[in-house]
Amino acid sequence: MEKLLSRFLDYVTTDTQSDPYSKTTPSTEKQWTLAKKLVLELHQIGLQEVSIDENAYIMATLPANTDKKVPTIGFISHMDTSPDFSGKNVKPQLVKDYDGKDIVLNKTKGIVLSPDYFEDLLQYKGQTLITTDGNTLLGADDKAGIAEIITAMEYLAQHPEIKHGKIRVAFTPDEEIGRGAHKFDVKKFGADWAYTMDGSQVGELEYENFNAASAKIIVKGKSVHPGYAKNKMVNAIAIANEFLSLLPPREVPEHTTGMEGFFHVHKIKGEIENAQIDMIIRDHDAIHFQARKELLSNISEKLTQKHGDCITVEIEDQYRNMREKVEPVFHIVEIAQEAMESLGIEPIIKPIRGGTDGSQLSFMGLPCPNIFAGGHNFHGKYEYVPLESMEKAVKVIVKICELTASQIK
Ligand SMILES: [Zn+2]
Repeated sequence: MEKLLSRFLDYVTTDTQSDPYSKTTPSTEKQWTLAKKLVLELHQIGLQEVSIDENAYIMATLPANTDKKVPTIGFISHMDTSPDFSGKNVKPQLVKDYDGKDIVLNKTKGIVLSPDYFEDLLQYKGQTLITTDGNTLLGADDKAGIAEIITAMEYLAQHPEIKHGKIRVAFTPDEEIGRGAHKFDVKKFGADWAYTMDGSQVGELEYENFNAASAKIIVKGKSVHPGYAKNKMVNAIAIANEFLSLLPPREVPEHTTGMEGFFHVHKIKGEIENAQIDMIIRDHDAIHFQARKELLSNISEKLTQKHGDCITVEIEDQYRNMREKVEPVFHIVEIAQEAMESLGIEPIIKPIRGGTDGSQLSFMGLPCPNIFAGGHNFHGKYEYVPLESMEKAVKVIVKICELTASQIK
């Protein structure tokens, strides 16, 4: 456990920001730097079948140390950090024995991490917090996950008295730009199921996420001199506006929570002849999700009847709720739950209002719930992680390996 902190500090000070506009994998050359470091380290702690492919996907094995027929399980985290905020020159600050008061991240810029605004801080009184210096994100998302997985594997390798089956680990590039699972070789990984270590606070355990699609509404108009436009002009902007007015006004991100779905219009552009609305559709429930897509077609039909043939709706599915893939193998959630409870950690099971790599992997044949990695306030300068939360995550990983083996007769 003593290397957990030094590992984490080493990883976060290696810039691995991904880039949504790049077409390569990994999307940024710099992700190779951390990848190569991790490959070396996996060898050093004694893992086998250590591999890195041409896209920087890393895999390794901790061999079974029991003759029992135990399922092969995996643990996965991602190497990249969010393009939303700088990950260059990360200077992590250590706050030991946190007193529950404001933490000055950056005196010159007046940046303060305060429990008045981030009340979660108060549950970590007396603990060691790792914060930023206010200029960058921290990268606990998801380098905490990497440090935890490696430390847990090292611990198991050093404690042969803990019996376990074959354990696979994987580190992926480009999760933050939605491509972390795209080139993941599920067959090569060869696990019966896995867990992403990519959640936030202690206890988080997630196996439900949104169904997600993006939609483009394209409106074609007809430009005519405004002085002579009566019964001739078709104003695409006005029709786009009418389209928006027919969407349910409360079903938007700013008015929904929990299991409530939404339409989120994030871009509009328009002239008389052409207008376009870009939106995303999100819903945990597959039937409601379908109904949302149909609503867009219905509105389009209605407006076509009124204005003539001027609207095209293009819908593209993005990801699906992993619940349907996890429910038939629900013991994989129960093992994680039991592992947490046996360590005195209360599992917090709630639907993710977003997606994870695990949802994609689940549909690729690798059921993959998500477990806490310990950090808070991801993707920005207020990101922090308590060292104690990372230690708990290490223990949860070890416990899951142990329970998976001990439950087999
Ligand atoms: Zn993450």
